[in-house]
Amino acid sequence: MTSPDDIVVVLGTRPEAIKLGGLCRAAGDRARVVHTGQHYDAHLWYDVVDDLAGVSIATSIEIGGRSRGEQIGSAVEQLTRYLHRHPARCIVVQGDTNSTLAGALAASSLQIPVVHVEAGLRSHDRSMPEEMNRILVDAVADLCCAPTPTNAEQLQREGVGGERVVVTGNTLAGALNHLLPAPEVREDIVARAGLPIDGYILCTIHRAGTVDDQQRLTAALCAVGAMSDRAPVLLPMHPHTAHNVRRWKLESLLEGLRVVPPMAPREFLAFEAGAAMIVSDSGGVQEEACFLRRPLVVLRDSTERPELLDGWCRLVGTADPGEVLARAWADLPDWRNALRTRPFPYGTQDASACILAEISRRWPAR
Ligand code: UDP
Repeated sequence: MTSPDDIVVVLGTRPEAIKLGGLCRAAGDRARVVHTGQHYDAHLWYDVVDDLAGVSIATSIEIGGRSRGEQIGSAVEQLTRYLHRHPARCIVVQGDTNSTLAGALAASSLQIPVVHVEAGLRSHDRSMPEEMNRILVDAVADLCCAPTPTNAEQLQREGVGGERVVVTGNTLAGALNHLLPAPEVREDIVARAGLPIDGYILCTIHRAGTVDDQQRLTAALCAVGAMSDRAPVLLPMHPHTAHNVRRWKLESLLEGLRVVPPMAPREFLAFEAGAAMIVSDSGGVQEEACFLRRPLVVLRDSTERPELLDGWCRLVGTADPGEVLARAWADLPDWRNALRTRPFPYGTQDASACILAEISRRWPAR
């Protein structure tokens, strides 16, 4: 049974499920989760849902495996139909995916209030589809939940301000409290993989900007491959990356790397917490590295999380990724030391509770 007092949470991908799990659990029966099917791979989705114990998917639509425009169009159409039949008090979307944008557009077309979790992040790189999604969702959202004051200031500069913006902190802190295994369990997970704590590099590569360009993907894999002379490199391979490695016959660049399937969130967090260094083009991994105080090299030219450039992570930028990685490795002892005391950029609030309180204040249940 659905109620117009429900809070509909639209999720499409692994990071959305991880970052909205706490809000769903805290909202309990009031949350109605709609999965768009953007991620449908068993490793990317079902492992995550398993880890979201307590969050049940109310309904699913299917948009996976298509182009960006087709995904957005199809999701808007299906979500509009769903929300028309099953009205809601408001809709919550998170981040910068095609599902995030589709959820916001569908709700907005029916004048259902839109809540954007992780508002105001900007890479200022308009070639990134994620950047377009962020800008469009913030333009539509009735409540923009900015993780940091910097994000709120960015919204203000774009004319999104006043009552529409609240600094809530980052929902990732709650997610880590829920998902991060205890230290002895983490050590056991890493030891069973035959890796020394603090003695390996963890790598993820999956963003369209990296893996849909043969040259960039080749450069990233070569740079990471060269690091395997210094330490074992563990690479949980995203299905999209695996597809393009096969497509361009780049398998030889994986020799020397420990390539494994994508991991369930708890397992992945254990490897993040024990890594000497993390190398990734992911958004969420940037925040996790910060929470876990692990050095991270971001395999990108820009980041939408500028507060993390203040010593938390290093951007590969336009330079040769191999050179940046080698330099970062050489600097590790000092870098690790500096991370121990760096002031934390995301505050101490319980972001999910703060967002739910704002929702109740603005749109109380009848
Ligand atoms: N993650 C995971 N298993 C993996 C790799 C990543 O559970 O094998 C998690 C990771 O802990 C983080 C999230 O996936 O919470 C990041 O998602 P992703 O890198 O796919 O997307 P982005 O954050 O770049 O949007």
